[in-house]
Amino acid sequence: MTDANQTPSGPSGAGPMPIPGHIDPVPVPRPNLVEGVTPREDGRLDLIGLPKKRIAEMFETAGLDAKAAKLRAKQVYHWLYHRGVTEFEAMTDIAKTMRPWLAERFVIGRPEIVEAQHSSDGTRKWLLRTADAHDFEMVFIPDADRGTLCVSSQVGCTLNCRFCHTGTMRLVRNLTVGEIVGQVMLARDALGEWPKGRMDFSFGDGIDGADVADDEEEGSYTSDGRLLTNIVMMGMGEPLYNFDNVRDALKLVMDGDGLALSKRRITLSTSGVIPQMARCGEEIGVNLAVSLHAVTKDVRDEIVPVNKKYGIEDLLQACADYPGASNARRITFEYVMLKDKNDSDDDARELVRLLKKYDLPAKVNLIPFNPWPGAQYECSTPERIKSFSEIVFRGGISAPVRTPRGRDIDAACGQLKTAAEKKSRAELERLYAEKEKELG
Ligand code: SF4
Repeated sequence: MTDANQTPSGPSGAGPMPIPGHIDPVPVPRPNLVEGVTPREDGRLDLIGLPKKRIAEMFETAGLDAKAAKLRAKQVYHWLYHRGVTEFEAMTDIAKTMRPWLAERFVIGRPEIVEAQHSSDGTRKWLLRTADAHDFEMVFIPDADRGTLCVSSQVGCTLNCRFCHTGTMRLVRNLTVGEIVGQVMLARDALGEWPKGRMDFSFGDGIDGADVADDEEEGSYTSDGRLLTNIVMMGMGEPLYNFDNVRDALKLVMDGDGLALSKRRITLSTSGVIPQMARCGEEIGVNLAVSLHAVTKDVRDEIVPVNKKYGIEDLLQACADYPGASNARRITFEYVMLKDKNDSDDDARELVRLLKKYDLPAKVNLIPFNPWPGAQYECSTPERIKSFSEIVFRGGISAPVRTPRGRDIDAACGQLKTAAEKKSRAELERLYAEKEKELG
């Protein structure tokens, strides 16, 4: 167990720590790292990102006896993830004398907001910063019947998909569990969506003089209709290259005692990292979206280079095997419409043929390309997109055209992160080659 009173460090004491996660692309120095805890400069430990059991362990390490630690963890967990409080002082069923003790040792973190933009169509976009000063993005897209938060999993990305602005940025590091779940919490803060009303339960413990619910009275406790109804792991980064942290963050999001969002309302989007796809279905159980974007090897090799490693046919077989996929839970295939690249009628017919060959419960999202400065592609014409969509529809597969959102604030992935380092094309190729080697 980690001692919260010690100064945590890497195995060598001060050297670089490996990034937690199944695949560990770029080790970077991480001072004061306790496993699973987002590091803070002042030495306090950030509780956001930790499950109840780990919070109890931290409290015990800090000096509470096991019974008290478990009880406090249950209370604090509820306040953190279900009520969204950001100060221990607001935890009214914890004794007043206990709250400063918590505040001296722990912190309730949120990513820092560097910039917040609001589109005329309601889309909201935030540039966020980690405690160690790395920037990443989050986007909220409201629709008539839902509100979708697009969450990032990495700072930058290794996969350099040619149509994606994030793909031009250097991978800095994986986001921690706290930084991932913190995005959802920040969105709830911004949308004013934490449950309102008073608590109607209490923890009758009497431990170390704590009174129960000392400021609260019984009353209504509601988690009423919300704007934020859906989450897509479709922001910066490839979530399956940060599998463990994404899984642990989504477990907090799905926990009924936590953020309490149904797994049916969560979608993880991958560019096709086949070895992790089954794990995603088994260990997280969320909906799957696949960035397909092309139906021939040549074109997909060019625009989604991970295709050189994991080809289309193997990818579609992995989709057919995805645990939990059914007609009620179809797999979404994302298809960005690039002029004269992947948008012909033949491409549309081949798409239908492939999806039928693997008998996939599929829907296709057609995405008009949103060009960014330096992009080497143009968006297909509206007529071309319409023709493509109709062919797929006639093939018996739903293929709606996604309405471009937030164009006045450049809401596509990676477009706000202006401070990100740019890689040269040669460097991208080198990094990609390294990634391929690493994946074996
Ligand atoms: S589309 Fe996704 S996986 Fe591809 S470069 Fe962009 S962020 Fe990375």
